Amino acid sequence: MITSTMMDVPLQVRRLLEHGATIHGGSRVVTATGTGTHEVRFRDIARGAARLAGALAGLGVKPGDRVATFMWNNHRHVEAYFAVPAMGAVLHPLNIRLFPEQIAFIANHATDRVVIVDASLLPGFAKLLPALKSVRHVIVAGQADRAVLDGSGVGVYDYETLLAAQHQTYDWPDVDERSAAAMCYTSGTTGHPKGVVYSHRSIYLHALAEAMPDVFDLSARDLLLTVVPQFHVLAWGLPYAAFATGTSLAMPDRFLTPEPLAAFIEAARPNKGAGVPTVWVGLLEHLEAHPETGVSSLTDLVVGGSAMSETLMRALDARGITGLHAWGMTEMSPLGTFSRPPVDAADEDVDGYRLTQGRFAAPVEARLVGPDGDEVGWDGESVGELQVRGPWITASYFQEGDDEEHFDEGWLRTGDVGSVTPDGYLRLTDRARDVIKSGGEWISSVELEGHLAAHPAVVEAAVVGVPDEKWGERPLATVVVREGASVDVTELREFLATKVAKWQLPERWAVVPEIPKTSVGKFDKKIIRAAYAHDDLNVTTLG
Ligand code: AMP
Repeated sequence: MITSTMMDVPLQVRRLLEHGATIHGGSRVVTATGTGTHEVRFRDIARGAARLAGALAGLGVKPGDRVATFMWNNHRHVEAYFAVPAMGAVLHPLNIRLFPEQIAFIANHATDRVVIVDASLLPGFAKLLPALKSVRHVIVAGQADRAVLDGSGVGVYDYETLLAAQHQTYDWPDVDERSAAAMCYTSGTTGHPKGVVYSHRSIYLHALAEAMPDVFDLSARDLLLTVVPQFHVLAWGLPYAAFATGTSLAMPDRFLTPEPLAAFIEAARPNKGAGVPTVWVGLLEHLEAHPETGVSSLTDLVVGGSAMSETLMRALDARGITGLHAWGMTEMSPLGTFSRPPVDAADEDVDGYRLTQGRFAAPVEARLVGPDGDEVGWDGESVGELQVRGPWITASYFQEGDDEEHFDEGWLRTGDVGSVTPDGYLRLTDRARDVIKSGGEWISSVELEGHLAAHPAVVEAAVVGVPDEKWGERPLATVVVREGASVDVTELREFLATKVAKWQLPERWAVVPEIPKTSVGKFDKKIIRAAYAHDDLNVTTLG
């Protein structure tokens, strides 16, 4: 064996920062202010990051210490994304939408020492603070009445004042590329949330792969509307990919409802975007009612976090926007697959490919494992649990190890069920726990939801398995009916009967004002099941 002659330069967040600040120093972070936009350049972000690192060091933050954020998507949050890992500490964006007890559990589990809080979130944070056992310092970003933190026993600082006293350069340490750079917790639909700790190396590699043409296709010519929250898998790693490529970022801050989001798009004119389907569904509804809104700058929207329905894809197509489907997980940094049809796909097959979750991004490896533990072939039909491995996929959970429920001999068990075509396109049929097991057959809740969402009178539909004496489990369909539309569930069932086999048709139906969502905007099926169990739904039984 001979050794290579290549340099062994560590892949560090600090190098991404330096690259973005020098090579793409003029690229922008545009943040929504509610009345307009605020703009800074990457070179300013780098100066801010250096000042923030100086300030944190001054507060006693040491390598490995956890520095949390409690923030929206904005330029200061991007500064923290770089400052904290680059100085050798560990960035921990807290999910501001969780219940206070969950946030406290997560912050205590991670032993966060410092929290940077957006001023607009301070009142809620102040109530939470007494439960955060390890926090010693709170830095408030923006104008706020910091008196709400009086008597809390922690140091309280104003972000800008703290930074103004610091140098605009920082002597970044040469950290091990395998050391911890950032962490996020999984949504934790069962049991406690679990921590995933990303390394400098994993973040760097992920950023490069994510930017590739058959993935997000990012370049210095793009302005990317990053709706996916910075507390959700590091905003899918996009701020790091932006600094690798010079992609400018459009950050909506707290202006996330359809109306201000549409206004922000009009003002900032991003050409690409990334977010969960719910956001785009809401935006399209708004545009329907306000056709004068100018969103013509948008060409590509990445849809991930939940399945992109055919209806959503077609509605985007009708506006000249390409919906690009992506799949991933907190455990995967999150990129797993990205859907762009093969170049030689026949015209009639293109949309089918676009609706799959997509092809695996190098160097993600995948296998399907059947219920008996045997590997399932990639024939586009056979279904199994998806397992993955790769350099940005977690091998264990923070302080919990690699138990057999989640890991299988070096592979991560995703808990997602589906098939893979011979040419490597993943088609998910369900979460393992959401598959409806009816009399020994599996019914895909996702498939039923997709068909229902295609009905013109339906805004959204969620289908869950509920206990059934005869079949073990049967589907319950909950639907949100479009305002002004009139449709009854018998008609919806008949509509569904033209799409799926009779034995898959739900008997139980409920029209609901909205589908409950998790903190990151996915259908919260736990709540629907509980509402059904407690008789809180107005259920009509058909068939
Ligand atoms: P999280 O870690 O909160 O991002 O959740 C990851 C899970 O979201 C995955 O395991 C999938 O069940 C689901 N998910 C993510 N992207 C998609 C997608 N494109 N289609 C269907 N489910 C998805």
